Order: sequence, then C-alpha cells, then structure tokens
Amino acid sequence: MTGSDGAPAALLESVAPLAEAHDVALFDIDGVLLLGHSAVPHAAAALTDLSATGVRHGYLTNNASRSPAAVADELQAVGIPARAGEVTTSALAIAGLMSEELPAGSRVLVVGGPGLREATSETGLTVVDSAEDHPAAVVQGLALDIGWPELSEAALAVRAGATYFAPNLDATVPRERGLMIGNGSLVAAVVNATGVTPRTAGKPAPGIFHQALQRVGGRNPVVCGDRLDTDIAGARAAGFPALHVLTGVDRARAVLLAPPDHRPSYLGTDLRALSGPHPAPREEAGWWTCGGSAARSVNGALELRSDGSDLPLESADLTMDDYRCLASAAWSAADAGAPIDSAALPELRISAPR
Ligand SMILES: [Mg+2]
Repeated sequence: MTGSDGAPAALLESVAPLAEAHDVALFDIDGVLLLGHSAVPHAAAALTDLSATGVRHGYLTNNASRSPAAVADELQAVGIPARAGEVTTSALAIAGLMSEELPAGSRVLVVGGPGLREATSETGLTVVDSAEDHPAAVVQGLALDIGWPELSEAALAVRAGATYFAPNLDATVPRERGLMIGNGSLVAAVVNATGVTPRTAGKPAPGIFHQALQRVGGRNPVVCGDRLDTDIAGARAAGFPALHVLTGVDRARAVLLAPPDHRPSYLGTDLRALSGPHPAPREEAGWWTCGGSAARSVNGALELRSDGSDLPLESADLTMDDYRCLASAAWSAADAGAPIDSAALPELRISAPR
C-alpha cells in the first residue's frame, strides 16, 4: 500500500542529519514550536542551530487569527528567529482561494481574528460584519472571542446563500493546559445549523505547503509537524517528506496506528531530531530491526526486543530505534491486512536520544 504521493508509506532513511540533507525546513507552529505562548522545549535552540547551517525556515500555521507579522513577533519573543515573510497562515491560503472564486470587491462576512480580516481585505475583497450587508461569502476562522452572536451571523448569511469558507477545520488547538476548542469545532456549530459544509484551504490541503515553500524558496523541503491528520497528511499530499515530533497533539501510539496517508517519513521526540541522522528499520524473517532493536507483529500484537532481550511495550525509556521498529512492524502488519489490535496497544514512552 502506498501513500497518496505514490511512495511506500514507510520510514525513510537519512544517513546525513536531516538539516544537512534538506535546504528548507517548513515548521508547523502550535505543538511544534509553541504551546500557547510558551516555546516548546528545545525548539528555540534547534531553530537557532538551523539558522547557523544556512537552512531556510518557513512557518506554516492553520491558525488564521493572527497576521504573519504578529506570528513572527510571537515566535521572536520566545527566541525563534522568524520573519513575517517566512510565515504562511491558513488565512493567506483561504484568501487566495476566495479571490480566485469571487469577483473583486465582493463583500465577505469575516468571523475570525485580525489575521483573517487583513488577508481577506488584502486580496481586494470587502470585509463586512453583518448578514444584513448581503455578503457573497462567509469566511470563518478561529478567534478566542467568538461566541453565539458571531456564529449566528455566519449562519444567517450562509442560509441566505453566501458561499461558506473556512481556513481550516482543526477540531482542537493545543494550549498550555491541553487541547482546547479549534476552528473546526466552531465551524461544526454553523454546519449543524445550516447543513452547509465550508470550502477549506488550510492543512491538510497541499496548496498551503507549496505556498509556504514558494514564500521562502528552496527545492528540497522537510516538513516538521505534530498532527498526523493535518501536518503529516498534508506534507504527504504535497509530496514532501515529514518529520513527526511528540511535543503536540499526536503521540507515539497514534503514529503506530496511522493509516498510510498519515504516516510520517521520519520520527523524533522533538526538534533536536533535525540535527541527527535517521536510520530506517529493515525487515528480516518477520522482524523489523534497527540498531540493537527489533519488533514484529504476531496475531495483532507487537513484540519488542532490545539487545536480544524481550522488552514490554509499557517500559519507560523506549529508544528511538525501538520506536522506529515498532512503527515499521505496525505499519507493515496493517498493510498486509493484519492490523495490530489497538485496544491492546499502550501509550509508548519514548526517550530522546542522549
Ligand atoms: Mg500543530
């Protein structure tokens, strides 16, 4: 079975450190660089190291509430060297789509933050705030002060025939205290009230990845993300390899259970994985081996050996090679029509390489 880019949905090998093998790194922001307003551990140091090697950075966010300049300011405040021209938001992506589909000057009811309002007006569309203004379209993105009045205004306009757009449909957004309500969950209220589903342009749509690469230039990108259904699925759809990190939404257990289109090319615990090589497990006699680790699937259950000894999946401090072998064994079992039993799979505790 292959991913949507036609390549086998298996781990790739990078003998050289990822940062040396690529000329551009495209970063998801929430859960990769930031948790709320705080930096993800090791992210600032990893990005500073990357700048020193000359690898270009692009920042790619489904958060449509802030402008690229505001996003860059927020990243700089935690020590990440970002510039506005390196930031691509789903607001820019949806504004691009609306400007292709609506006549110039069309009225658009914007429910969302300043980033979405700015992106909409910059494409030559006219921002309005009420269904009474007879908008041609409604665009709805996340802002933390959206409530019943704004959602109802959107519903009224959509019911009256306005075309419905949303920069992204993320159900949740990771913050310091956990997974909060994302734009997709607020959109679901309007969909429930109107029966109309919005057009969307954020991740996992491939266009925003190509747009991000175009903004920073370069030829050989690697995408860094925490969500399988947006970052990794979108990178795969765009034809770009992706590094998955464990600092945000999806954990190692979800990676093992991922369908082919959601599988990362490289695995890491955090962005320090950019500065290291990535061996890929090889299969021999049913075992997937990498370094001193080996894993296989037997009747829907994963077995793990480390340096020749059986190791329970519940062990603390599983190594990256353990993790790579478990992912390869789980994916190949699923592809062979004998998926592992998710009910018997615990959350894995992976430790960063020392
Ligand atoms: Mg994220």
